[in-house]
Amino acid sequence: MTRPARVIINPRAARHNLEWVRRHARGARVMAVIKADGYGHGIARMARIFDAADAFAVAAIEEAVTIREAGIDKPIVLLEGPFEAAELELVHALDLEVVVHNHEQLDMLVGAPKPRVLWLKFDTGMHRLGFALEHAKEAIARARALDIPLRFMTHFANTHHRGDASVHAQMDRFEQLLACEAGERSLANSGAVLGYQRAHGDWVRPGLMLYGVSPFDHEVGADLGLLPVMTLRSRLISVRQVRAGEAVGYGGAYVCPQDMPVGVLAYGYGDGYPRHAQTGTPILVRGIRTQVIGHCSMDMMTVDLRPVPDARFGDVVTLWGEGLPIEEVARASGTIPYELLCRVRMRAQYEEGEP
Ligand SMILES: *Cc1c(COP(=O)(O)O)cnc(C)c1O
Repeated sequence: MTRPARVIINPRAARHNLEWVRRHARGARVMAVIKADGYGHGIARMARIFDAADAFAVAAIEEAVTIREAGIDKPIVLLEGPFEAAELELVHALDLEVVVHNHEQLDMLVGAPKPRVLWLKFDTGMHRLGFALEHAKEAIARARALDIPLRFMTHFANTHHRGDASVHAQMDRFEQLLACEAGERSLANSGAVLGYQRAHGDWVRPGLMLYGVSPFDHEVGADLGLLPVMTLRSRLISVRQVRAGEAVGYGGAYVCPQDMPVGVLAYGYGDGYPRHAQTGTPILVRGIRTQVIGHCSMDMMTVDLRPVPDARFGDVVTLWGEGLPIEEVARASGTIPYELLCRVRMRAQYEEGEP
């Protein structure tokens, strides 16, 4: 493909981030979360790159199949467990670990082929998945009766802020519940790995930070010592002069305030860029920071070239990644970096290397 849209994945940056987690969460084992196609980076690729992880975590059995088909035999955890009893045959055959968060799943496991490990999940305050605390002891008794190695898990609602009282309250409930129970514990997503030492437990479950992105609202990965793994690159396919008062693109969403150079690059919402990115969203042309103007279209978008007056056809454009934190693009488009990463699926060609 000669269309210049590229998703560049930097394995060295990814390994650096994993190593960073290891150093920071010393003593805990690392379950690298690579669901949603490795947060848009490619699941088999990331499973290979994160070969120093102790385990992987995914959301669907198909993702586990992809990892096994890539020849990787590390432990894999199904974060939402089985969706139906019919999956348990394959769970056993692939030697998977399952999270169990409700009684329906415990029912499925009775007399079924056994998973390698059962992670019992408790709702300590997020109120999404997990056994309610008042039913927790009964769930533990039922799980123990299945005679599968048992571990314990919970998930936080508010680790995108540092020092959130609700995170501590969730930890208190988890610790109280399990005070007399033997079994490994896992609590921490990226925000808790970075901001809540007390939550590290036996296994940490980082996702976003492994890709070099900050889980905190007002910090970027570089502030935390992380390196961006994904860089989106394309090139200018047109450079033109547009007169003051003329509108650019569909709906004329941007009106030029003066005579100005406008660039068009080969990248659009069909490649996963957010359509709702506003005029003003940062973008780099030949490393120089400028702004997206108007709405992005399916295959193309327009940029303000006033800061790069000598820009020419073929110049390199960076949409996020090396030199431009995805956190800034997410903020300017009213979303979170998680969503932007997951949407990059497509046409654009993936490559590995240093951006
Ligand atoms: C997705 C997920 C994670 C990883 O979260 P990040 O914020 O990306 O670090 C951890 N645990 C569970 C249960 C998840 O669903």
